Amino acid sequence: MTVDDPFAPAPGATLDPEDWDAMRAQGHRMLDDILDHLQTIRSRPVWQPMPGEVRASFKAPLPTAPTDIAEVHDDFRRNVLPYGAGNMHPRFMGWVHGGGNVAGLLADMLAGGMNANLGGRDHAPIAVEHQIVEWMRAIYSFPDTASGLFVTGTSMANLIAVLVARTKALGASVRKSGLGNAQLAAYSSVGAHACISRAMDYSGLGSNALRQIPVDANHRIRIPALIETIEKDIADGVTPFMIVGNAGTVDTGAIDDLAALSALAKKYGIWFHVDGAFGALAMLSPELAPRLTGIEQADSIAFDFHKWVQVPYDAGFILIRDRALHLQAFASPAAYLRRETRGLAAGDLWPCDLGPDLSRGFRALKTWFTLRTYGTKALGEVIARTCNLAAYMARLIEAEPRLELMAPTQLNIVCFRYRCANSDSVNARIVTDLHEAGIAVPSTTIVGGHLVIRAAIVNHRTEPEDVAALIAAVIEMGERSQPA
Ligand SMILES: *Cc1c(COP(=O)(O)O)cnc(C)c1O
Repeated sequence: MTVDDPFAPAPGATLDPEDWDAMRAQGHRMLDDILDHLQTIRSRPVWQPMPGEVRASFKAPLPTAPTDIAEVHDDFRRNVLPYGAGNMHPRFMGWVHGGGNVAGLLADMLAGGMNANLGGRDHAPIAVEHQIVEWMRAIYSFPDTASGLFVTGTSMANLIAVLVARTKALGASVRKSGLGNAQLAAYSSVGAHACISRAMDYSGLGSNALRQIPVDANHRIRIPALIETIEKDIADGVTPFMIVGNAGTVDTGAIDDLAALSALAKKYGIWFHVDGAFGALAMLSPELAPRLTGIEQADSIAFDFHKWVQVPYDAGFILIRDRALHLQAFASPAAYLRRETRGLAAGDLWPCDLGPDLSRGFRALKTWFTLRTYGTKALGEVIARTCNLAAYMARLIEAEPRLELMAPTQLNIVCFRYRCANSDSVNARIVTDLHEAGIAVPSTTIVGGHLVIRAAIVNHRTEPEDVAALIAAVIEMGERSQPA
């Protein structure tokens, strides 16, 4: 129907293509191109620095006029794609980065086309997210009153857990009246990720309210020291409200005694949270799952699908045992978010009631595709295999007198150094040189006061030859650093 009304604006220019066939061909070229890139990833440097002209290309003025998408894609191929962090590459072992996967890539394309907003309402994308919540509930043996939510990453998931635990400790009124004189304390090991301390900061409790407990020789929280600290807080009139257990610390992959922590939390009536950013999904490996015993007792678990399970970024997740407490910490009524019993505005659990985000993308789809396409058995095998590769790396290091293993290799993380004078600066240099040479990307951390080379094997593409190549390159660069 054409509108014949002088007050109606003229028919507009939609953003849809004029020539759908040409756009389809362009889309196929872009898809082929990124698949080619992945198929041949091994033939390229892991990482390379951006040359000056590439950096300069990002100083272009705001594009007021259109550019052909083919030209924009050419720019992407020239200036963006070759200069990524390299975490799809089998020799990327820095920090804890996932390797991504093709099913997830394709799902992200579909999610972009569907352009779903998962804040709430009654549509299939929400059902897909609920399906993942159900699957996670099954993995961790959580009750059917549990709730879950996709978030950016474990940093956000840990923050949500702190806020739910805080609201449980102080009651829902804390959301209106603030903390007042409340004095709460949380507990983790010194090996906990920095985002736990930041979550305490953002929650208004302050990072000083996180007690960082010393660790044993295996980098696990020392339970007697934890009990002592809790008792001292109670004696001082401070209320213990949360224990954070690590299922895989970022530095060394240590897993706290989660069963002991859970028992302690129960005894003192404290919320028990597990930061399992990468480690929690070791549940998918029958060999590794027993190491997580106690995780099924947690009040909340934070983890990332974008690490060990290889879902493309970003796909963090928070699982909370008691949905009512989760809602109590986040739900709020708003007239424009009115719920109905029928129509699109229906649906009994809206994700916007479980976290700070209202508009939310369809992270669940790439996760659903990844879990379904590969199956949890194969994903568990990928996880176990990275641990076997780490054990292999540790063996190479122990057999090599010029290298020194700096922490027990408990999961997929290996901390070691080249033995020499000025070890800290030499080892830092070795890592930077490896990056710049494009040979391999480990990172560094501090263990026992020493700077060490840290290799976290997360990528499903990593092979023994990649491990051997990293070790050989470290030795070679170490030798080169020594005076002749
Ligand atoms: C990666 C990691 C985090 C942070 O997760 P993000 O997804 O980067 O926000 C927290 N804790 C541990 C143990 C981690 O490995």
